[in-house]
Amino acid sequence: MTNVDAPHRHLERADELVPLDAYRRELLSRIAPLEPITVGLLEAHGCVLAEDAAAEHDVPPFANSAMDGYAVRSSDAYEGAELAVVGEVAAGAELPAGEVGFGEAVRIMTGAPLPPGADVIVPVEQADEDAEGARVRLRATGRRGDHIRGPGEDVRGGEVVLQAGRRLGAADIGMLAAIGRVRVLVHPQPRVVIISTGDELLEPGSPDRPGAIRDANSFALTTLARECGAAAFRLPVVGDDRRALQEAFEGALTQADLLVTSGGVSAGRYDYVKQVLAQLGDVRFTKVGMQPGMPQAFGFLDGVPCFGLPGNPVSAYVSFEVFVRPALRRMQGRTDLNRPRVTAILEDEVASPPGRVSFLRVKLHRDGGVWHARTTGAQGSGILRSLVEADGLAEIPSDRTSVFAGERVVVHLLVDTA
Ligand code: AMP
Ligand code: MG
Repeated sequence: MTNVDAPHRHLERADELVPLDAYRRELLSRIAPLEPITVGLLEAHGCVLAEDAAAEHDVPPFANSAMDGYAVRSSDAYEGAELAVVGEVAAGAELPAGEVGFGEAVRIMTGAPLPPGADVIVPVEQADEDAEGARVRLRATGRRGDHIRGPGEDVRGGEVVLQAGRRLGAADIGMLAAIGRVRVLVHPQPRVVIISTGDELLEPGSPDRPGAIRDANSFALTTLARECGAAAFRLPVVGDDRRALQEAFEGALTQADLLVTSGGVSAGRYDYVKQVLAQLGDVRFTKVGMQPGMPQAFGFLDGVPCFGLPGNPVSAYVSFEVFVRPALRRMQGRTDLNRPRVTAILEDEVASPPGRVSFLRVKLHRDGGVWHARTTGAQGSGILRSLVEADGLAEIPSDRTSVFAGERVVVHLLVDTA
């Protein structure tokens, strides 16, 4: 049986803990989408549109050829017809003067405007032009409208092509450009500042010293925030020192829409983060009924939402998935706040502390058309290796203290595609 964590971790009585669902719901109710701003099209990629985008004009704006070929009258477009080549029109060129008359053809390129008089394009592959370029003989019969793209064929002037609330992908950005937009109103990318705290933490590249470990959290959390669509920045590690913490948090606020810290929210003597956050703003500390990730701080500093996550690397990671990711998505104007989830058959028996929702690191595989989940090894909240191996977090409800092999569990994927 896989112990969720060592027994000494569970000193809190279940009734001291705030239920995860209620905590999360309350927290998310206090997060609002960021005020929309106008940005250039390439900057808008991945952002949620905050206006209905309508085309001002038809796309395409004029009738044009869908093929390289000859613009002719349909009454002339029969196999064996011999026509006089009277002109040429290229993409981007102005129309030649006059109409295409009976017995005449105008050489035309893809995207070039349709000359008046012509109502069919005969592709170059179905025509033989003489060496002088004076005459063309058709090898196929065409019908009125063949290979002609009418004005507004793609989009009609006035039509709403993209509705507010849509998250802009590559095709959407292309469409906005096609209808002539230069800028667009979107919910901006949240700016997130990530700070790891702890006297024991070493900056990357700095020399080892006794009692010290490498800062893992700020790197994982910054990456998670970026994956989630935020512009996330990592600040250097801050020690367990009230003044240093205060200065770092105050500095971060000037450039952040969201602040995420790790460490210092537990019951240790030097866990100053929760004190400093509470002193600087309206941040509360809560013991949440979850495992890992029980100690949580959340609130606002100068209107900026702030998460104080626990320091154990897996606790910080899972806390991000459970709280910070949905908050960040809501700030982006998204309504799909959660990762995809699947139901899977658990392959090994697991234990879970009473009164807590447990999140177990599992690897998924498909068998006989159903998902199966197997825990990835030691589930201690400091074991990053089992997180590296995992592709999902199996959720064990708070009213269960064990789940047997063969039972069904909900698995939250750690990626965005099912
Ligand atoms: P704390 O939440 O500050 O009590 O930290 C809990 C545990 O997580 C301690 O063993 C810390 O050394 C460890 N820890 C805290 N922050 C980090 C970090 N940024 N990277 C790796 N381990 C950390
Ligand atoms: Mg600490």
